[in-house]
Amino acid sequence: MRRMLVAGNWKMNGSLESIKSLLDGLKSGLSRSEVKCDVVVCPSSVYLPTVSEQIVDSAIKLGSQNICDQDGGAYTGEIAGSMLAEFGCQYAIIGHSERRALYAESDELVAKRFAAARRGKLTPILCVGELLEEREAGQTEAVVSRQLDAVIALEGIDALADAIIAYEPVWAIGTGKTASPDQAQEVHAFIRKKLAALNSDVASNIVIQYGGSVNGANANELFAMEDIDGGLIGGAALKPDDFLAICQAAT
Ligand code: PEP
Repeated sequence: MRRMLVAGNWKMNGSLESIKSLLDGLKSGLSRSEVKCDVVVCPSSVYLPTVSEQIVDSAIKLGSQNICDQDGGAYTGEIAGSMLAEFGCQYAIIGHSERRALYAESDELVAKRFAAARRGKLTPILCVGELLEEREAGQTEAVVSRQLDAVIALEGIDALADAIIAYEPVWAIGTGKTASPDQAQEVHAFIRKKLAALNSDVASNIVIQYGGSVNGANANELFAMEDIDGGLIGGAALKPDDFLAICQAAT
């Protein structure tokens, strides 16, 4: 039985003050609710220590927005898995489309970051998804396959037993244009079928989140689909009421 997971990717947003107020809202909302899904927040890395302290004794878990593919040494500006773990991170977002597009992260580099997360005992949240032109050219499955294959080639299919996949169509991220439940389900089912051809246990147990303009109003319909196991949330994760409604929808 898969457990739903809702993760908030705060991106490069927030300040000490706004983060405290966001967390206060989330903690009091969660303590009053019947939310049963796993809940993760992924702040900008400078805020990991304070968030880690503020979520002690709450149901909220901590994730990073990226991780270095190396374990330490002369890699200016990078953060190793062991450092993230020291500050309470249990998850690491890997290969977000903004990293792939704006910072030229290749499938191979994403796969190496995935491997580093596992070495650091963090659960990778591996983001995959197609651009609008790729969808329109009928290449969605080929793109998602290629992104998954890079990880499987480096780490093997069994490595996905300890991972989360986030299907995030790039055209739906931050655009307000979400994939329809059927569109999302189709790709989620494709991913599960692809993995099942290699390892049926991994395929049936892996959590596959949907990401792309999820909000309090559309989460119920998306999460009702058979192969959608929660969401990776951007904009709506910055609004306590919306994020709590999404967590409720995953319950
Ligand atoms: C994201 O950045 O992963 C994301 C899904 O953003 P948004 O929810 O704002 O579309």
